[in-house]
Amino acid sequence: MLPIYLDSHASTPLDPRVLKAMMPWLTSQYGNSASAHFYGREAAQAVEQVRADVALCVQAQPEEVCFTSGATESNNQALCGGMEALAAHGKNHLIISPFEHSSVDAVARRLEKKGIVLTVLPVGSSGIIDPADVARAITPKTGMVSVMSANNEIGTVQPIRALGHLCKERGVVFHTDACQGFGRVELSECPVGEPCVALADLISLSAHKLYGPKGIGALVIRKTTPLVPFLLGGTHEQGRRAGTLNTPGIVGLGMACVILEAEWPEESLRLQGLRDRLLEGLLDGFDGLVVNGALGPGNVRLPHNLNVTFLGVCPTRLEKALDDRISISSASACLAGGAPKPSRVITAIGGHGPDEGATIRFGLGRFTTQDEVDFAAQVVVNEAQRLRAAGCSR
Ligand code: PMP
Repeated sequence: MLPIYLDSHASTPLDPRVLKAMMPWLTSQYGNSASAHFYGREAAQAVEQVRADVALCVQAQPEEVCFTSGATESNNQALCGGMEALAAHGKNHLIISPFEHSSVDAVARRLEKKGIVLTVLPVGSSGIIDPADVARAITPKTGMVSVMSANNEIGTVQPIRALGHLCKERGVVFHTDACQGFGRVELSECPVGEPCVALADLISLSAHKLYGPKGIGALVIRKTTPLVPFLLGGTHEQGRRAGTLNTPGIVGLGMACVILEAEWPEESLRLQGLRDRLLEGLLDGFDGLVVNGALGPGNVRLPHNLNVTFLGVCPTRLEKALDDRISISSASACLAGGAPKPSRVITAIGGHGPDEGATIRFGLGRFTTQDEVDFAAQVVVNEAQRLRAAGCSR
């Protein structure tokens, strides 16, 4: 029997409806969307339909959607290209949260070495950024604020609306890595009597977190947002990203967005029910369980996320013990020597490090069943209890 998959924040399985939509573009409809002939035109038409679908999800204009290879590229492009353009106008200050994905964090650190002034925001145990801290950090030199929509480890949903408004008021570009939040977190608003608008100037997304294929994503770039392109050598994507478009991937991304948009309200309720059931099972069976980040009430955490620390349990041993039955992620990446390294996210919120206990991230998904959740709760509790009793000698 294969292990149960509970790692939806790392990647999601391809929805069969997405695969079906992609198939013709992997087989008979192979034209290059930049070609002027019949095959090229039909590919271009499919691409433009997806551009409109993605734009609709965030209330942007279709021409503001730029297809990329995924959120890593989108984040690199947003920060490097955005700060290069902004710094040229004296706006050389960048603000990020302390728990951004490494494709934001590492880029920010590189930019800092090149002369960009970097501010890393504080955050409390809730794992939610306080807009007042952002307001305090903004100076006349601030070019960009980058705060993710939802965290990939603890699932906490960030105050995108407040941050969007604040940045607009202060004339600062707002980037959000919406890799985990796209389709699940409010990224646009429709003021009464006014056109609907995206809440951020730059929005990164990735299809494989939405039951779409890997290697395709987008960066939404508002028309007024200055950006120096990264990939040169073609006029694709209005000169913002050179390279032949990945038509099958783009079609997959579009279908994934359409399905999520239609099904998320119901899907989120089902997932929240399963997540709460999982948590109950863990709390009932193990005393010494700590939930990392705010849990609610309210829309403060992705409903399919649970991140917990089992105090007194050896992290590497727990991972090993579960590996043949459940595929989950620990919030700690192992160093080459085998010693677990604390997660940046858990450290930022003042959580327990690997010396104190084992931290596990559960990511439930569209195809997760109640039986799987019950099985996972039982197995994890049994192993955690056993390992706590055995002690930890690394
Ligand atoms: N940002 C976040 C928040 C993520 O969770 C991930 C995927 N782990 C990425 C960016 C990178 O996305 P991709 O795999 O599409 O490059």
